[in-house]
Amino acid sequence: MLEEPLSLNQLPNFYNNEVGLAVLGYPIKHSISPELHAAALKELSEKEPIFRKWKYQKIEVLPNRLAEALPLLSDSGYRGLNLTIPHKVEVLPLLDCIDDQAKVMGAVNTLSWENQGWKGYNTDGAGLSGDIYNAFGKRLKDFNVLVLGAGGASRAAVSQCLMEDCQNLAIYNRSIERASHLSEILRTNGFSQEVLILDQPVNPFADTNSELLIINATSLGLRREDPSPVDLSVFPELVYVYDMVYNPPMTKLLKQAKEKKIPFSNGLGMLVGQAARSLEIWTGRDISENAMRQGAKLALT
Ligand code: NDP
Repeated sequence: MLEEPLSLNQLPNFYNNEVGLAVLGYPIKHSISPELHAAALKELSEKEPIFRKWKYQKIEVLPNRLAEALPLLSDSGYRGLNLTIPHKVEVLPLLDCIDDQAKVMGAVNTLSWENQGWKGYNTDGAGLSGDIYNAFGKRLKDFNVLVLGAGGASRAAVSQCLMEDCQNLAIYNRSIERASHLSEILRTNGFSQEVLILDQPVNPFADTNSELLIINATSLGLRREDPSPVDLSVFPELVYVYDMVYNPPMTKLLKQAKEKKIPFSNGLGMLVGQAARSLEIWTGRDISENAMRQGAKLALT
């Protein structure tokens, strides 16, 4: 049974070395981040009891309340925040400082209270890259990549693909304007590689030798009734499918991949990877992913 989210008017105050950590989003009920972090903090506190006083929660924050939420949270003693749908881009003008890599990505998923202000980081790209390797035994540079979606998670995914020099890159999004805007941002942020913007989810690189990796970075799949963001029969050649959604663990996209015997993975490993990197930023300690993986397993059973 997952913990119920708090609302902004239920915030506790943290005193005497107590530290508040939280994930903010809307919707947020599905998030298992509190269970991952609780498992890692428990392991950490066996060596350093101070971490017993650190608590990670999930807080429902509607898009129009993010600006109000950030000072409320710092005043209450929150020192580390994760951001999920739909806050990763909208938060940028609200921050005091942004880490260089997050600046290049144009999206932030981790906030740390530093020097009396919120500093933004992005750990999604590293989490995605590590899990693609764990799932498929290949690096992003080995693939042609088709990213579905153009929101905050997509920004991290496409930037990571470009940083790692993937073979070719295309983006398909429901609203083509948002995908075109993303390609402009990539150019402004210093990426010179060509990025194709598609008006249909197809493989524009079918005549090349590299295999296609499809990454779902849309929110389609979060609700059990959601349709698949693509019809995999459009891709007769061998593809790999990575769905950033992890709860539910088998989306309609992944069920199609399984039926077609296409290698696939959900986004649980990415969630664990990005969470471990976030906790490293907040604690200054090396975080092993094992405890987080166990916490995730328990939360999802
Ligand atoms: P955003 O709100 O920033 O972006 C949402 C994206 O989904 C947009 O591209 C949007 O398209 C698209 N979309 C939404 N509804 C539909 C629909 N009905 N049909 C087609 N496209 C749709 O969210 P994020 O980028 O932050 O998150 C996206 C997903 O990635 C979420 O499911 C999130 O949980 C997951 N995620 C998982 C992580 C992990 O660690 N596993 C890490 C980060 C994210 P449009 O622009 O047209 O509105």
